[in-house]
Amino acid sequence: MYGKVLICDPVDSVLREKLSDKFEIDYNPEISAQDLLNVIGNYDVVVVRSRTKITRDVISRAKKLKIIARAGIGVDNIDTDYAEEKHIKVVYAPGSSTESVVEITLAMMVIGARSLFKGIENTKKNNFTKLKGIELEGKTLGILGFGRIGKAIVDAAKVFKMNFIAYDPMPVEYPEYVKKVSLEELLQNSDVISINVTMRKDSPYILNDPELAKLKEGVIIVNTSRARAINGKDMLKYLKNGKISAFVSDVFWNEPAKEDYELEMLSMDNVMITPHLGAQTKEAQKRIAIMTADNIINEW
Ligand code: NAD
Repeated sequence: MYGKVLICDPVDSVLREKLSDKFEIDYNPEISAQDLLNVIGNYDVVVVRSRTKITRDVISRAKKLKIIARAGIGVDNIDTDYAEEKHIKVVYAPGSSTESVVEITLAMMVIGARSLFKGIENTKKNNFTKLKGIELEGKTLGILGFGRIGKAIVDAAKVFKMNFIAYDPMPVEYPEYVKKVSLEELLQNSDVISINVTMRKDSPYILNDPELAKLKEGVIIVNTSRARAINGKDMLKYLKNGKISAFVSDVFWNEPAKEDYELEMLSMDNVMITPHLGAQTKEAQKRIAIMTADNIINEW
């Protein structure tokens, strides 16, 4: 046996199959934060998704730990700086759920434009009142964060015949049908904004009151990346006064919500939240598990 692996969150069984001849594996997908602190000292590798946080405390007690593997995209639930200080490798699975996130994002754009949530909610109560929306055709889609998912969204959204603009502070490539813009231009000109940024655990909000004030009247905001891209307390004002006509998000600041502004948002008709479903497809979960296993084997 090479070493001991602790899997802390639900991950497709192919991960265990791929590692089983090389590692001793403990699968504990519901482990509590306290239990993790108690046992982490026994493991060489720990695998987490979003639920489990690998904090400074966890790392301090991880005497043998060589690899922290995030079975997903982004490492904002891991104290990566402290892991680096302790010479622990942090690996993740970039690109593994892009297709699934793109599909849910396009669905969310249509949901925001056509009040589909409200319509379905109404017909469940046998209320067939018609709700008017807008077409996406001819509108401007602004992509905030033009990485793997942002690029794949514009490719897929061509079907809507929209105009595409994108902002990213990094030197990324833009296809000729996407106009590179500043953050201010993106806020002022987008009819629909899709947020697709990466965030670290300590990244500041990108959209606070001064940025939100620049939004185009009636904009639809779709967020399938991280809730912390937006200051939720500041955003509430613009959802109430209609400047933001719809907020459709797969991510929330607390999942489940606990702050007053979050609970108020959940009660609003123009706020439609899904419970972090972006990568929750059979196909994406399998790709994530395979990439995570390969990452562990390669880094061992
Ligand atoms: P990526 O790293 O390929 O691209 C992210 C881009 O965001 C990068 O180009 C980066 O430069 C840019 N960026 C960072 N800070 C920015 C800022 N302040 N303003 C504008 N752009 C900024 O990542 P990806 O694979 O495209 O993933 C994007 C996001 O989607 C990540 O946050 C990831 O965690 C999230 N995600 C969510 C789900 C879900 O279940 N909803 C699933 C997969 C990925």
